[in-house]
Amino acid sequence: MKYDLELQVAIEAVKKASTLCSKVQSSLVSEETITKKDKSPVTVADFGAQTIICHELSKAFPDDKVVAEENSQELQTEHGALVTQKIYEYVSDILPEINQEEIHSIIDKGNHDGGPLGRFWTLDPIDGTKGFLRGEQYAVALALIEEGKVVLGILGCPNLTKDLNNTDSTKGLIFSAITGEGASVQYIEEDSQDRIEVSDIEHPSDAPFCESVESAHSSHGDSEKIADILGVKAEPIRIDSQCKYAVIARGDASIYLRLPTRKDYQEKIWDHAAGSIIVKEAGGKVTDTAGKNLDFSQGRTLSNNTGVVGTNGELHDLVVSAVIEVLNSKRR
Ligand code: AMP
Ligand code: MG
Repeated sequence: MKYDLELQVAIEAVKKASTLCSKVQSSLVSEETITKKDKSPVTVADFGAQTIICHELSKAFPDDKVVAEENSQELQTEHGALVTQKIYEYVSDILPEINQEEIHSIIDKGNHDGGPLGRFWTLDPIDGTKGFLRGEQYAVALALIEEGKVVLGILGCPNLTKDLNNTDSTKGLIFSAITGEGASVQYIEEDSQDRIEVSDIEHPSDAPFCESVESAHSSHGDSEKIADILGVKAEPIRIDSQCKYAVIARGDASIYLRLPTRKDYQEKIWDHAAGSIIVKEAGGKVTDTAGKNLDFSQGRTLSNNTGVVGTNGELHDLVVSAVIEVLNSKRR
């Protein structure tokens, strides 16, 4: 099958990165968190996961470029040297072949600009850093883009359980999809995969929707108005990271709303590439808030799109109409 090798390498890399993240999450101390200019927390796990995945990808596919969220700039300080030491300790436990001196250059393999041509990977080593720091949901998100189109996506979700409501059951899932081949889930610890499909809900009143925990990342006020228009009865399911896409892809929820909180914000490709192909291959639909396809050919951001709407497909047109109604009413 096309992309078989890519899938195998990407799943193994995401497994290793997820293991590192779980270890760091269970031993979080404040020293491991440094502050980026935009104040979002960056952790040893973030850089460690990027090191592992960039290294594994360049071993298997030396010519492939990577568009990743992090770069080594903030590690070039005195405090950064301490953080680099910590990253090395965690990484070398999993990949003993890596030297401490290589860590920065491996992280900077993720500096590609993306764009419409050729093939590159996009990586969010820890999507949902806020959830990670709260001890809640986060995802390791990796996707392959060819000529501006997402062709493969993997989401490592170390804290997600098969049954969303039974948080005592076995944690740690990997979702994956290849274009035209459907979507699957497996436990991080295992290799056997199960197919997943979106819900078959036809009426929005029966459709649970999900959104960000952080109201700065998606307007909770607007989603409430949209839910009212659609007659959605259930309370919103709030989850950090692209775990939201996973929850739609396996049918726990049928609507994902990401509604702009600022005019100037451009969504990042690594925040949506893996999740969107997994939802589409599970039978769902993903567009922006105007109903336009997400355009991954514009560089590091989705500069042709505003916000995101994901659904089980069946409900898509109805949901997009309600979204347009609410967003237009604010412009008047
Ligand atoms: P979530 O887990 O849904 O809250 O999304 C986390 C992602 O939101 C992070 O990876 C950031 O890249 C992204 N983000 C940061 N600021 C904003 C914003 N103003 N609007 C939308 N997304 C944002
Ligand atoms: Mg992210």
